[in-house]
Amino acid sequence: MKAAVMHGAGDVRVERVPDARLVESTDAVVTVARAAICGSDLWPYKDMAAGGSGRRMGHEAIGVVESVGKDVRKIRPGDFVIMPFAFSDGTCAFCHEGLHTSCLHGGFFGTDDVPGAQAEAVRVPHADGTLFALPVHADDALWPSLLTLSDVMGTGHHAARAARVKTGQSVAVVGDGAVGLCGVIAARRLGAEPIIVVGHHTDRIALAKELGATAAVSEQGTAAIDHVRALTGGLGVHSLLECVGTEQAMIDAIGMTRAGGAIGRVGVPHYHAIPEAAPAFYANISIGGGPAPARAYIEELLPDVLEGRIQPGRVFDRVVGLGEVPEGYHAMNARQAIKVMVRP
Ligand SMILES: [Zn+2]
Repeated sequence: MKAAVMHGAGDVRVERVPDARLVESTDAVVTVARAAICGSDLWPYKDMAAGGSGRRMGHEAIGVVESVGKDVRKIRPGDFVIMPFAFSDGTCAFCHEGLHTSCLHGGFFGTDDVPGAQAEAVRVPHADGTLFALPVHADDALWPSLLTLSDVMGTGHHAARAARVKTGQSVAVVGDGAVGLCGVIAARRLGAEPIIVVGHHTDRIALAKELGATAAVSEQGTAAIDHVRALTGGLGVHSLLECVGTEQAMIDAIGMTRAGGAIGRVGVPHYHAIPEAAPAFYANISIGGGPAPARAYIEELLPDVLEGRIQPGRVFDRVVGLGEVPEGYHAMNARQAIKVMVRP
């Protein structure tokens, strides 16, 4: 079969690889209907060292189950499934607590351990715990939004939960990428008001406003902090969704959050220590978040997707075939596309 392999920074190739197959008795093999390129895939695209055997990329997918191992009980061949970006057994202490990304037997797709989903097919460990089989036939038009439940919509929702978003309270979303846009959707869905998006890409800000943002702040650094405070009576926001992962984004986030407020961080941190410890301490700001247990949120978010109340699939603004995945990476890295969907 064909799959996307990253060999180093800026070097993604589509290659012939061995077919995905069952390895453990709890595995499934899923034919990929749609996959995606993630903002987090851009980190290795910027800095991965060349010279290794390459990494099979992709951790977001929807598709059809082709085969299952002998110990798979719930998932059946023919099921149309959502594949969350982390695999999980569904049975350990953390899975029972809804924190599937800390599963004692879990891990992440598109790593050195488990090949990714930017491919014709993908091997899924712990199929019964990992996969979510759709209860109804899903119209093609819903596929982009269903695909976001594998990562970005669940991640935006996780940011909102970690930031303790409440009806009628103020929210700022730092970052106007796909996760930030899904954070806007999540904040609106939970009834927040106002919702301030912080970003400086004109097209993305326009989409954020269509998805529920009530104001936009396009300055950076101190000017952005001042603007958010000006929009909130000088106090800052109750809830802040940090959807970037840089140290500057966290500095801005802490500056924009009011005393007693909460920050939900879902951008993979590319810094060693959380900055601004003293200001965050004196303002009693809670900082939470981490990799979203997307598997746990599918059941909550799915009805809103199926019934059209939220349309997170709008974050996809480009579709490529498997052979054009390298161009997809280039477009996202050059900010020519918000998020790229892959149609194998
Ligand atoms: Zn588990």
